Order: sequence, then C-alpha cells, then structure tokens
Amino acid sequence: MVNFATVDKAIDYGKRRLVRRQLRQRGKVLQLSQKPAIIFSPHQDDETLGCGGLIALKRQQGVPVWVVFLTDGQLCYWGAPEPPPLTTEECIRLRQEEATAALDVLGVEASNIVFLDAKDSTLRSLEGDQRQRLVESLAHWLRAVQPGEVYVPYHKDQHDDHIATHDLVKAALKEVPLTVDLWQYLVWSLWRYENLNDLSTQQYQGLYSLPIAPVKSQKLEALKAYKSQYTPVVGNFTALPKTFMGFFDYPFELFVKA
Ligand SMILES: [Zn+2]
Repeated sequence: MVNFATVDKAIDYGKRRLVRRQLRQRGKVLQLSQKPAIIFSPHQDDETLGCGGLIALKRQQGVPVWVVFLTDGQLCYWGAPEPPPLTTEECIRLRQEEATAALDVLGVEASNIVFLDAKDSTLRSLEGDQRQRLVESLAHWLRAVQPGEVYVPYHKDQHDDHIATHDLVKAALKEVPLTVDLWQYLVWSLWRYENLNDLSTQQYQGLYSLPIAPVKSQKLEALKAYKSQYTPVVGNFTALPKTFMGFFDYPFELFVKA
C-alpha cells in the first residue's frame, strides 16, 4: 500500500528544490566583495545554513568575518519527549561548542564569535527595556566591528526569531552612523517557501545567487558540527526535520539585497 505521507513529503521536497532552482535562475550572480562582514544569526546553525559558503569564501581570501548569535540556543531539543535529554545550561553550552566548531571549519576564529544571551524563541515578544537592551548590544557590535556588509535573515523567514533578528538589527543600524550593504539570507523560507511566492518584481531585482561550489564540502563539514540538530536523541526524535540539513547541500547561496 502506498504511504501517502511519505509521497507527499517527497513531492514537497521536489517542490522545494524547484523553487530554489527558479530563484537561482531569476537572481543575478553575486560577486564576492572584500568588505568585512558581520552575520547576525538567530540560532546556532542559521549562519552556516544560510551563509556558510559566503563565510568560507570570504575567509579564504582573508576578509574578516564576525558572527553574532542573538539567542542562547537553550531549546535545542524543543519538542522532544519528556524528560528533556539535557538541562538548559547543558543545551546552551553544547550549542556554543557546536557553533565554535562549525565556524572553525569555515575559518572564523573564536575571537570573532559573539554569543548574546536572549532566550531562545522569545525575540519577537521582547518589549520595552528588554528589547532596547538587545538593540543596544547589537549596536555595540556594529560600532566595534565597523563592517562593510551586514547579513540578517530574510524579513519573512518563517521563524519568529528570524523575523525578529531582521527587525532588531535594522533598529540597531539606525543608532550607528555606518554606511553598510545590508543583505538578507534565506533559511526557513527555502524549506517553507510560501513567502517566496510573493516576492515582488522589485524584490526579485535584489535577488542574487552566490556560487559556492569550491567550498561546498567545507559548508557540509561545518553543518556536521551541529550534531544536536540532526542526531536522533530520544527514539526517532531529531530537533530539525530529518532531511533538513541535507537540503542545504547545493552549490549556491541566495541573498536578497535589503
Ligand atoms: Zn534558526
């Protein structure tokens, strides 16, 4: 008997690949710049999923790259059957170790990695002082690093923390007298692509694809460092959908100019 759930998933997977290919065809080819870059990443893995190739290429050419993680990653096993496999503190430490190892593969030194401590999955609900404090932290790192390029998640990147990261960094940029190129990278919107269907003509004009074939294996190696996200922990449970990491095995990355 046909397992329709499996078939549906297979079709979805094919559709996702098709959408990604179409986006690549519609985008212009991105020429890698020599500008120092700062990547703002909501969670430990988004920087590699969305920009791993870009980071590796820049580092190969000696261009400085900083990565700032906004959340502490404490919900690394969110949705796992009770009791949680790790305590909150263990989760936070594990995600930091994984991120440091992944970025080491991509050529980013530990001194260029910043872990802020906003609680995982709360960024969009921060208000008042709490929100302002986080904006100040982001502004501090922008001032300290003086980047030429800033990378944030796509403004409709499906996950609340991703959308909030986009908005918080934009708020921080208003507080810092810097002229930067602002780029959006895609993570969840490549997986759940409904929000990409309504890219306006104007947004398509800002769409670019960066060829990353020479460093693709490095990106995949870096992704392997995020074991907590794809290794079954309790029974069959994995933190991310089982095919998620493999989906990012492609020779280009997509960016939308903000
Ligand atoms: Zn994320």
